[in-house]
Amino acid sequence: MTENKRVLLVHPEISRTKYNFAGIIDNEPLELEYIWAVLEKAGFEPHIWDGQVEREPFVKRLHELGPFAVYICGRTRQEGFMREYARAAKETGAVTMIGGLHAQRCFRRFFNDDTDFVLTGYDPELVADILTGKSTEDMNSLCWKRDGHWVVNKAVPHDIRRLIRPDRTYFYQHQDRYRYLEMLPAAHVRTSYSCPYRCSFCIRNRMNCGVYAQRDIADVVDEIAGIDCDNIYLIDDDFLFDEKRLEEFVSLIIQRKIHKRYVCYGRADFVASHPELMKKLAGIGLYYVLTGIEATDDAHLNAYSKRCDNEVNERAVRILNSLGVNMMGMFIVDLDFTAADFRSIWKWAVKNDLKHAAVSIFTPEMNTELIKEYKDRLITRDPSHWDYLHVVAKPSKMSVKRYYFHYHILLIRLFLRAWRQGIYDFIDYRFFIGSMVKNLFRFGG
Ligand code: SF4
Repeated sequence: MTENKRVLLVHPEISRTKYNFAGIIDNEPLELEYIWAVLEKAGFEPHIWDGQVEREPFVKRLHELGPFAVYICGRTRQEGFMREYARAAKETGAVTMIGGLHAQRCFRRFFNDDTDFVLTGYDPELVADILTGKSTEDMNSLCWKRDGHWVVNKAVPHDIRRLIRPDRTYFYQHQDRYRYLEMLPAAHVRTSYSCPYRCSFCIRNRMNCGVYAQRDIADVVDEIAGIDCDNIYLIDDDFLFDEKRLEEFVSLIIQRKIHKRYVCYGRADFVASHPELMKKLAGIGLYYVLTGIEATDDAHLNAYSKRCDNEVNERAVRILNSLGVNMMGMFIVDLDFTAADFRSIWKWAVKNDLKHAAVSIFTPEMNTELIKEYKDRLITRDPSHWDYLHVVAKPSKMSVKRYYFHYHILLIRLFLRAWRQGIYDFIDYRFFIGSMVKNLFRFGG
């Protein structure tokens, strides 16, 4: 085996335009930190390059470090960067591995000369298994090349109870950057993987081969106790799911006298049907709940198979507001929207006193039934547009230009409202509103 033990673990930048969420939400590269821990244990020398926070360009770092292997992860919108970095790494003669959320489902998009392996599972041990030369023939959740032809091994769900502690050295070195809004720094903790629900627009429930898996909650609390950071971002696709497990979480946090603030994803129906439990969670420091409100009317909620109605959504906001927990209400602007539908989101936020709102453009995800449905309406195939900020398929009730116009007007109104209410005071509002107004004239009007 080579004497060079250096492995570069890469998370590319989110975008190269300034119109993104850099400086507002920057995520700790937890997946890479898990791989780091596994590689170190196996005798390798891992290094991370995260495009969200690094000042030194990737290629410069690559040449300085001279790793023998490079692992690159990312989401759909980062596909172009992932390919570019794989090409640069291959030119140096390194072994190249691609993994992460996008590769798990759309692995064939990386079948090219610059890539040696595509990982289709969540298990961080896979990277060490490949690099220690284990036989790829019977390695699950892996695509590899035999005599120049790609072989697709079976993907299997990962038992996340086997995860070892991530190595957070890189996080601690960049505490001035990793944040969730005003929660700076915010450390990521995963307690479960995938989602037990089946909302039709979502791909989170397809992760881990569609199998929802939970870690032991006592182990999660133990991990949280050991993190030197006051803000914990529980990055499960749905943390508010298992009532008994959450009761245990609250008890253990109290028992161990842990005083931190938490942000998590949680469905409105859970919040609405568990007001007492939400009160207990608020009592131990729950600060933000990120909730997919999605739509202001039951017709859209039903079409999305959300298993939730508007009355429940409204009750959930009331409960969290009464407890002093911030709901980040996440909405989808559908491609069948009229001008009135765009306005309805604004009105809903005002009526329900929802202070924090985020809006995504309806995006049929790659390699799903949904994208087949929208096949004839697609107006782009550029993966960087799969960022929920771009229209990727033709709207049905107005032109693309008009659609962007209404979308940007909605964003500006929500932003101005947030500004007036004094939330997110760390944001450069003038810059963001300026960008939105510019986009209003670039895309719409
Ligand atoms: S939208 Fe939320 S609840 Fe629905 S499948 Fe996705 S992660 Fe699960």
